[in-house]
Amino acid sequence: MSVIGIDFGNEGCYVAAARSGGIETLANDYSLRATPSFVAFDGKKRIIGVAAKNQQVTNMKNTVGGFKRLLGRKFNDPHVQHELSSIPARVEARQDGSIGIKVNYLHEDQHFSPEQLTAMLFTKLKETSASAMQTQVNDCVIACPVFFTNAERRALLDAASIAGLNVLRLMNETTATALAYGFYKNDLFEEESRNVIFIDFGHSALQASVCVFTKGKLKMLASTWDQIGGRDFDLALAEHFTKEFQERYKINAKTNARANLRLLTEIEKLKKQMSANSTKLPLNIECFLDDIDVTSSMQRSQMEELCAPVLQRVEQTFKRLLAESKLQLDDIHSVEIVGGSTRIPAVKQLIEQVFNKPASTTLNQDEAVSRGAALQCAIMSPAVRVRDFGVTDIQNFAVKVLWDGEGAAGPGEIEIFPQFHASPFSRLLTINRKAPFNVSIVYGQPVPYPDQTIGVWKIKDVKPTERGEGQEVKLKVRINYNGIVLISSATLLEKKELEEAAAAAAADQATAGAAPSVGEEKSGEQQAAGGNKTGEPAADGQQEGTDKKKKTAKSTELPLEVITHGFSPIDLDNYTQQEHKMIGNDQKETERIDAKNALEEFVYDMRNKLQGGPLERFVVENVRSNIVAQLNDLENWLYEDGEDCEREIYTSRLQSLQQQTDPIKARAHDYELCPAVFEELKASV
Ligand code: ATP
Ligand code: MG
Repeated sequence: MSVIGIDFGNEGCYVAAARSGGIETLANDYSLRATPSFVAFDGKKRIIGVAAKNQQVTNMKNTVGGFKRLLGRKFNDPHVQHELSSIPARVEARQDGSIGIKVNYLHEDQHFSPEQLTAMLFTKLKETSASAMQTQVNDCVIACPVFFTNAERRALLDAASIAGLNVLRLMNETTATALAYGFYKNDLFEEESRNVIFIDFGHSALQASVCVFTKGKLKMLASTWDQIGGRDFDLALAEHFTKEFQERYKINAKTNARANLRLLTEIEKLKKQMSANSTKLPLNIECFLDDIDVTSSMQRSQMEELCAPVLQRVEQTFKRLLAESKLQLDDIHSVEIVGGSTRIPAVKQLIEQVFNKPASTTLNQDEAVSRGAALQCAIMSPAVRVRDFGVTDIQNFAVKVLWDGEGAAGPGEIEIFPQFHASPFSRLLTINRKAPFNVSIVYGQPVPYPDQTIGVWKIKDVKPTERGEGQEVKLKVRINYNGIVLISSATLLEKKELEEAAAAAAADQATAGAAPSVGEEKSGEQQAAGGNKTGEPAADGQQEGTDKKKKTAKSTELPLEVITHGFSPIDLDNYTQQEHKMIGNDQKETERIDAKNALEEFVYDMRNKLQGGPLERFVVENVRSNIVAQLNDLENWLYEDGEDCEREIYTSRLQSLQQQTDPIKARAHDYELCPAVFEELKASV
């Protein structure tokens, strides 16, 4: 059994696993720890991760990256339209307005959603951990950007579900980083609490969060973010070089997708070199366009000038964090950095400038998010034993509840969770009603998603008292472990019962009016399978005095009907089956290639052994030359008619050869065991 943490980055993914001895970042089939967030297709199979990125230039239309930025969105979303310019694959609107990414797979055009592509990547990560850990994956924690809204979080959960992952928590990326930092430093927080800022600057996202550590727990206080990252530096430089090449060589890289991709690849390399070197560095691309070799150069100061608008946004994000958190500079213990783009010297300088502290690199900059997620998974999963550490995340956007109704009963609204409220958390909202009604949960401030609505709940079976009066309906509004806000239950407190209980009369008055009342409830709810080990979050809510009323009143659970983002169970089931089928197909293709490779390897190996090699003397000449001739024929066949056959054909050819060569190998083996007997036999023939 293994528990893992996944950092699903815009550019690359990391998986870490929790073992009894500690946390380990896992290497993939290329012995690399980073798995590029790319999925590609060809006539036979899917190509995922490193292999997909490697063949991108030669298979551009069927290689897809950047789908993290499309999760949970509709085709006509302006954000999607903007992103499409950087996705070479054909992308279309489906009938329901969702995104269909069109690729040629198994020799036909097929559409996949961003959720399905994410699921494919998750399948790969699951395989990576299964082979590294030599066991199936049980539970996982997935990190996601702090600014992900309801639709994106649900889409990510749908993707995980399609890939058959059991997600214990969707965790904000900076929170995962904070856990990776705090878990092993627990003893240092005994004397006094510590405020640490975590900056994650990646490929297309910048996130900054403040976290307070006390003994045994962490609490996120505030976050700021911007959708900028390393790619914006690359694009600014690409703009510059494209202009230069147009002037000097009269070629326009933008007219050719492949040339543009090559330019971006070389620019990224140059950008990374500039992080370590402030002198002038070359940029050379052979046969760039129209057979022209291009050459240029740049130095760090020039890059900083060209990227000034991006750096300005970075600075603003840092400054906003200071303002939002209301911390004084002296309150901050340190500023920890993770993410590839924090390696840019200008970014480190901005950190020092704004926070008056040098950027600190206590953590592994690439692996911290996945390691923190794996730790969280270990804490929550019954499959691994690990010391407890409480994690209180934040709800990054304010949330409002609105309800419909007529007259004194409604409509109404209330801000149920202000921005940066602790998560997970539950609140009770009491509304006096006579009939079924609708409740909407919406974001109470602008969010980076075109639709402010989180969901609409129909509260059914509400009825008046026998005297025709309204009754209390208690709605439990929850931010769950995934940062998703929902109504987890609705309860009708039947007034008749209350009236019979004389002691409850006074309490009744408090909420019998039309005005709703809100109470808080610490959420220590159980989510992980088999009992969750996380402590109660350090939410500072007070327990509402509802217990006494609950005991005296008859409470009835009300049925709910909800419209929110995410796939329907039927769609989810279909996509899951489709994923299974594709996994089966990939498996079959892998076995076919393996069988072909095994045959090829046998041909070369056996021929060497039979021609001047160790087996030559254990076979009579006419048999030997016959086998060698067969091997030669097979070699030619493998390059011609046999290039693309079913697995069974390769295995049956291998078997028929082995039947002829096994007796020779057996004789050689016997000779090794007892050469004297062999020599005697030879002499007697
Ligand atoms: P995101 O966090 O936006 O989802 P990600 O997690 O995939 O994306 P990271 O792996 O943290 O992103 O960072 C990748 C980015 O960091 C790329 O844009 C890459 O060019 C940049 N990067 C990596 N190393 C360096 C370096 N030495 N100097 C400058 N930039 C670098
Ligand atoms: Mg990242």
